[in-house]
Amino acid sequence: MKQQGKDIGLCLCRVCQQLNTTGRTHCLRCETELKVRDYGSLQKSWALLITAAILLVPANLYPITILTNQGQVRHDTIFSGIVHLVHSDMIPIAIIVFIASILVPWVKIIGLSIYLCAISFNLPISKKKLMVGFHVIEWIGRWSMLDLFVISLTVALVNMGQLLDAKPAPAATAFALVILLTQLAAKILDTRLLWDRLENQDDTN
Ligand SMILES: [Zn+2]
Repeated sequence: MKQQGKDIGLCLCRVCQQLNTTGRTHCLRCETELKVRDYGSLQKSWALLITAAILLVPANLYPITILTNQGQVRHDTIFSGIVHLVHSDMIPIAIIVFIASILVPWVKIIGLSIYLCAISFNLPISKKKLMVGFHVIEWIGRWSMLDLFVISLTVALVNMGQLLDAKPAPAATAFALVILLTQLAAKILDTRLLWDRLENQDDTN
């Protein structure tokens, strides 16, 4: 069995990464309260993730952009926007919007809930799969602002034409919150809880 920091009397500060001895209550360098494991982080992470999942409903049902073209007003949801882009022969942009606004949020929410379930309910998932999935979620995280970037870029580009006017609609706020809350849910979780679970497993897959 591999040794962890807590087995040899060491505890990492989650704020400044200073290595402290477990006897200390506060960090040697930044005075943050030290916890060998933050069990409360699991509940906080669940709460943020559930809120994000609920907000995904208005983010997909309500229009995300309002486009005015020569007096005609067009309301687009994420899905109808993608369909519209495909019909307008803008396939590469449609693919970017699909990845950023449908694929990434769903993969993040489903992936994170599998992790939280694995820790909360001790699910029988192999170490290797958990580790691979963890890196996938980390990697995906950096792409999550792409969609808001696409929206702001579209609005900036469209507004250059005098007859066109584009505005972000209510779903854009809900969508931004989904992204923010999933980021926070991943950030707040004490990943050491996952390592403990991996140590407790005796499978070798
Ligand atoms: Zn510190």
